[in-house]
Amino acid sequence: MLGGMQDAPLRISNIIDHAAREHGAREIVTRWADGSTTRSNWAGIAGDARKFSQALEKLGMKKGDRIATFAMNHGHHLAAWYGISGMGGVVHTINPRLFEEQLVYIMNHAEDRVLLFDKAFEPIIAGLKDQLKTVEHYILFDGEGDYPTFRELTDAEDGNFDWVEGDEREPCGLCYTSGTTGNPKGVLYEHRSNVIHAITEGQPDAMNLSQSSVMLPIVPMFHANAWGLPFACAVTGSKMVFSAVNDGEVLHNLVLDEGVTHSAGVPTVWLAMFQHMDANTVDYGKLEMVVIGGSAAPRAMIERLMKAGVYVLHAWGMTETSPIGTIGMRPPNWDDLSFDQKVDIICKQGRTPFGIEIRVVDDDGNELPRDGESSGSLHVRGPWVLDQYFQDESGKCVGDDNWFDTGDVAVIHPDGTMQITDRAKDVIKSGGEWISSIELENAAVGCPGVAEAAAVGVYHPKWDERPLLLIVKKDGADLSGEDVVDYLKDKVAKWWLPDEVKFVGELPHTATGKILKRALRDEYKDYRLETA
Ligand code: ADP
Repeated sequence: MLGGMQDAPLRISNIIDHAAREHGAREIVTRWADGSTTRSNWAGIAGDARKFSQALEKLGMKKGDRIATFAMNHGHHLAAWYGISGMGGVVHTINPRLFEEQLVYIMNHAEDRVLLFDKAFEPIIAGLKDQLKTVEHYILFDGEGDYPTFRELTDAEDGNFDWVEGDEREPCGLCYTSGTTGNPKGVLYEHRSNVIHAITEGQPDAMNLSQSSVMLPIVPMFHANAWGLPFACAVTGSKMVFSAVNDGEVLHNLVLDEGVTHSAGVPTVWLAMFQHMDANTVDYGKLEMVVIGGSAAPRAMIERLMKAGVYVLHAWGMTETSPIGTIGMRPPNWDDLSFDQKVDIICKQGRTPFGIEIRVVDDDGNELPRDGESSGSLHVRGPWVLDQYFQDESGKCVGDDNWFDTGDVAVIHPDGTMQITDRAKDVIKSGGEWISSIELENAAVGCPGVAEAAAVGVYHPKWDERPLLLIVKKDGADLSGEDVVDYLKDKVAKWWLPDEVKFVGELPHTATGKILKRALRDEYKDYRLETA
């Protein structure tokens, strides 16, 4: 027997309709790469979205088709998101910083039919075009060129379009994550998962969003949907401020000029903003909260912001978890705590909102107690947690009980606070983005004179981690660090190149002959890179 409530699926189009109807005048501001600023609002974004849906239908796009965006944060990107999912399409956001091979792989794997891109990325697209097997239409988001522009396409439509309806579990977004090894893997978001994630995200113990909030997402829209903020802000009717460039001065000016109350980004972006403020005026304007995630928020950063009266919401998550997994909620006795006690709490990764469950398990899969000491693999499950990568032959990546192994190592404290203590996956996280240590090593062993190579992430004050490449030379080889870096230059993305190459006599191995990464990470824990 069904209950007595209406059958109203949770779809992305309901979010934008709500924002346009109830908060239509709330502004959406874009600071473009050329320095100009444009202003729209939720009603304007909804109008553009409907027109873009019409344009996509005219191009022959159908429900389920993947439409890729290769773009920074701006209002056209936002309208395109809602337009694509509104016509039943799947928004495939692409990280433009990936290496050419990865870009080609993911666009072909996703079978993208349309590619929208920023003028600034035109040279990259020109270099890839011949290798893209499924893209039929190219659209420029801004500027002018050899392709139709987003504005031309939307201006040609009247906006008289009914959103395509369907099941709430249909897909609406796709984001590839280039984790440890092998090809990048696609995480396919659903209307329902994005909607309930958005509702959760705005809550008081989470990002505390309301119609008076002004959100500047510094986290890119290609990074786990800008952590879901473009959906959460439409639910709450918050003003949004976008910047197509990530520059400390530009971002700081936006904070002051637009009355930004909330912002979100990886630790690295805050360092850039601090640097600018230190050289100019230290003024946080109306900033109340910054969300820091993607890598552990450093204590000094938390202290600086909290001293200035800005609450740091330290969050943990993954592309696979949409991305919110845990959030740094304030405990009920918050006001009675000392400053240091508060900072101690914020340094940890926080607690789960309703919907998410976490546990830590030992190597045999036994659940460990929540005692703040027993450290194990962190598992997560819930309605916005992945259960299978997109078009992945290996099938489901969770067990019968739906637990997803995050590759992080953590403890859970008695009050439910999770604290990341290590990482089991073999990756380096630089400025919030992945460098695959295994791919770096595989490339390095191709270099003449190299017998064995291991890449480890070493602490860096600006990027959080940077790669240190350890090399065992072949007998008698005459090889310098520069030779290795030169060799790698056309094999990996520029920002993947190791900060340092260190020659060692031997590397530690496991019983099965694999390089013992954990031992190396321990050994080089306090290593100081010359670039640091
Ligand atoms: P995102 O950076 O959006 O959270 P990714 O999928 O790129 O998502 O990376 C997820 C991984 O980043 C996590 O599994 C974890 O290793 C690391 N990570 C994310 N947030 C934190 C955090 N607050 N503290 C420590 N590590 C984190």
